Amino acid sequence: MTPGELGEAFRAMDLPGYRAEQVFRWLGRGAAGFEEMSDLPKALRARLEERFDLPALSMIRRQVSAKDGTEKFLWRLPDGESVETVLMRYKHGNTVCISSQVGCRMGCAFCASTIGGKVRDLSASEMLDEVIRTGLAAGTAVTGVVLMGIGEPLDNFDNVMRFLALVNDPAGANIGMRHISLSTCGLVEAIDKLAQLHLQLTLSVSLHAPDDETRSKLMPVNARYGVDELYEACRRYFAVTGRRISFEYAMVRDVNDSPWHARELVRRLRGTGSHVNLIRLNYVSERGLAPSSEETVRSFAKALTDGGVTATIRRRLGSDIDAACGQLRRGEMRKV
Ligand code: SAH
Repeated sequence: MTPGELGEAFRAMDLPGYRAEQVFRWLGRGAAGFEEMSDLPKALRARLEERFDLPALSMIRRQVSAKDGTEKFLWRLPDGESVETVLMRYKHGNTVCISSQVGCRMGCAFCASTIGGKVRDLSASEMLDEVIRTGLAAGTAVTGVVLMGIGEPLDNFDNVMRFLALVNDPAGANIGMRHISLSTCGLVEAIDKLAQLHLQLTLSVSLHAPDDETRSKLMPVNARYGVDELYEACRRYFAVTGRRISFEYAMVRDVNDSPWHARELVRRLRGTGSHVNLIRLNYVSERGLAPSSEETVRSFAKALTDGGVTATIRRRLGSDIDAACGQLRRGEMRKV
């Protein structure tokens, strides 16, 4: 619930508004039950216990990277499903990468999260709990959130928008929209809908190929919205929001990493002010695709930059703890 909704529910119970504010703050600090809310009268805690559900995530597994301090958590959801969350430590703060669905139905050829399809959407409170519990478990403040874990956030539009409002609330987690990134495989109608909300978040689009032929090999969604339509949607998004889009490009050996692909990408993106994030494919054992060599990635990046498109090569964090897309949940599923 938002503070407003909680206030209304409390009014309906003849409780004063400040009680709702107290409870909202407790929830933002990660209270898993009303009994923890020590500044509420005992009788009130019992009443709230009866009236409200507080389903909290419980930790199944925590892995810490020996290389870079990245932490990866596997959480048990109230119905027994599981999702994973990653905490990345940067000089400027700590970012939590959250999942937005249990599984995914987008079917990208290189991604572990989509094997087995989508089980269900996550609720706004489950996503919020990922952020809060990860910060608590890692013993650190969370300063940024990226929606780049398991799932397609724009395929769970309403819950994700509700989550954004909650995580952004000053009385709660208080994460500024400018510290939030949302990544999509390119659902055009949802990108247009998002633009209308004028949020200050960063939209990342998983492009992975500049042309239909290559992109269709990697991403089934391309059959629904081809690259021309996607580029158009990105142009509209920038026109409406004034926020530049960043494109993700996973480099797959002999599939999308040739000089031709780089030239084509330059042709399509030059002058748009868009940024390209190159990442060497994370190897997923179930998938028959290999990462491009480091040298290929470097020359691809140079070709983009020389062509006038800004590009960065994404640093790999947590590679020693299976921090690539969906791998921890897959591991858990194989065990059971
Ligand atoms: N569904 C959303 C967000 C989740 S995936 C989306 O598609 O953008 C986050 C990013 O990781 C996406 O760019 C996705 O394409 C990428 N990704 C998935 N599997 C990967 C892998 N094995 N190696 C590198 N990047 C991968």
